[in-house]
Amino acid sequence: MPNKIIIAIDGYSSCGKSTLAKALAAKLEYVFIDTGAMYRAVALYFLRNNIPFDDEEAIATALKKISLNFSYNAASLKSDMILNDENVEAEIREMAVSQKVSEVAAIGAVRDFAVAQQQAMGEKKGIVMDGRDIGTVVFPTAALKIFVTADPAIRVERRFLELQLTNPAISKEEIAANLQHRDLLDTTRERSPLRQAADAKVLDNSTMNREEQFELALQWALTIISETNS
Ligand code: C5P
Repeated sequence: MPNKIIIAIDGYSSCGKSTLAKALAAKLEYVFIDTGAMYRAVALYFLRNNIPFDDEEAIATALKKISLNFSYNAASLKSDMILNDENVEAEIREMAVSQKVSEVAAIGAVRDFAVAQQQAMGEKKGIVMDGRDIGTVVFPTAALKIFVTADPAIRVERRFLELQLTNPAISKEEIAANLQHRDLLDTTRERSPLRQAADAKVLDNSTMNREEQFELALQWALTIISETNS
């Protein structure tokens, strides 16, 4: 049985991190974890229960009542986010959550809550995790770190095509504003801001299709896995 590694994938919103991470995990038979889904589920809980984002006590009490799990969905070939036994996969992708998630993700107690679970998931390695702070904070010693970027206009276009399927009324302007807002909060927050790790490999996928990105990242992974096993 070859040694398994941890693959950390970070980058801006809507750069295709999860799609790449999912494909790599499937090929390598690793576990795929979309950490954004965890922050989205916490944000959904806070919104539903009117938890003020500046009330430390209310936040601490709320976090004790939140249980997050991933459940494999054979139809979509990916894992759905389960918040306290409820499948919230569709709801956490809605604009109401997208508009607030970066504020929630900037709260220190929320990050402690999510990061502890993420680190536990990676204990046995064999994991591909995507997010904003995976290579810098969650797994700073990950064997392969990939920092994904893409031209902002291309990101908006890709996100538009994706969200339009479930929300035909959505506009490109709305999406562009949301991506800008989240990138700004994610890069400027005090706790674990989005940063490229010094030893990350940059993957600018502006002019690459999914297969090209996948092939490049897979080659990086296979090279490191073979070095780890030699
Ligand atoms: O990956 P996704 O775009 O679904 O993430 C939603 C939000 O969750 C991000 O905009 C960011 O604010 C937050 N996030 C984070 N750290 C991570 C993953 C996501 O702060 N590791």
